[in-house]
Amino acid sequence: MTIAEDFIAEMKREFPRFSIRYKRESGLQRAIHHTLRVVTLGGMSTYATNYHTVLFGTLWVPDSWDRMSDVDRVILLRHERVHLRQRARMGDVVMSFVYLVPIFPLFLAYGRARIEWEAYEETITATAELVGKDAARALKPQIVRRFVGPDYGWMWPFPKTIERWFDEHIARLSC
Ligand SMILES: [Zn+2]
Repeated sequence: MTIAEDFIAEMKREFPRFSIRYKRESGLQRAIHHTLRVVTLGGMSTYATNYHTVLFGTLWVPDSWDRMSDVDRVILLRHERVHLRQRARMGDVVMSFVYLVPIFPLFLAYGRARIEWEAYEETITATAELVGKDAARALKPQIVRRFVGPDYGWMWPFPKTIERWFDEHIARLSC
C-alpha cells in the first residue's frame, strides 16, 4: 500500500462512511461550482477543477487528484480530516451554517476563517513533517491569499492577521 492508501484506510477507521469521489460525477458539486462563480463575481471560478471539498463526509476531488503525488495527497487528506473532526464536533447543521451560508458578512465569515485556519494549521504541520520546514514556510503567500482573496469569498481580508497566525504556527512546530 502507498502512504496515501494507508492514510485513507486510517481515515475510514475513524470515519467509516468516508469516501472519495470525483466532482464531475456530481450534479450538486457542479451546481456549487456555478453558484460560487456567480456570488464571487467570477473570482472563484476554479472550484470544480482545483478544489477539494468535504461535504457530508465525502471528499469531492477534481480530476487533478489523479496526478497528485502520494505525499501531496496525504497532506491534503490531513487538512480534510480536520474538517471531518470539526463536523463530528459541531454537527452538520452548525458547521454548514458557519461555513456555507455567509459569503459577505465579516462577523460570520470569521467563523469560516477559524474553521479553515484549524485545517490549514494541519496542512502546514503535515508539509513540515512530510516534506520539510522550508516547504512549510514557503506555503505562506498562497495560504494568505486563500484567506484574503475570492477563493473562500474573501473570508478574512486582513493579511496581517493571517501572517501572524502563520508565523505563530510555524514557531510552534517541533520538527
Ligand atoms: Zn479546508
